[in-house]
Amino acid sequence: MKNFFARIASRMQRFMYGRYGSDELTLFLMGTALVFLLLSWVLWVFYFVGAALLIWATFRSLSRNVAARQRERNRYLRLIAKPKNFFKLQKNKFRDRKTHKYFHCTHCRAILRVPKGKGTLDVTCPRCHKITVKKT
Ligand SMILES: [Zn+2]
Repeated sequence: MKNFFARIASRMQRFMYGRYGSDELTLFLMGTALVFLLLSWVLWVFYFVGAALLIWATFRSLSRNVAARQRERNRYLRLIAKPKNFFKLQKNKFRDRKTHKYFHCTHCRAILRVPKGKGTLDVTCPRCHKITVKKT
């Protein structure tokens, strides 16, 4: 039985050799497809959207055109970078809400973090090296 699974794993490895495999975009497509397939219980049209996303994810995983898949992945990562950073900042602001204060540099709009309760501080921005006076 162990030999049987080893043979299947070996065949699978041979099948996937030279193919793109999985990445962030594929996982996102599969997750979205799952949501649409669950929504198809409410409205049948969602079934086709979910199935199309699943087919797209499978196509991407099995594709041998690695360069094109990497371009798609990079486009996807650029697209989600801004919202991802926004939510990361909100999470950090909430985590540090009792110990630190966040604000924008008045010169270059960079986001700065200073400890709370230290009086009025002269904060030097690490990006533009200009000083902002901030009450903490
Ligand atoms: Zn600055």
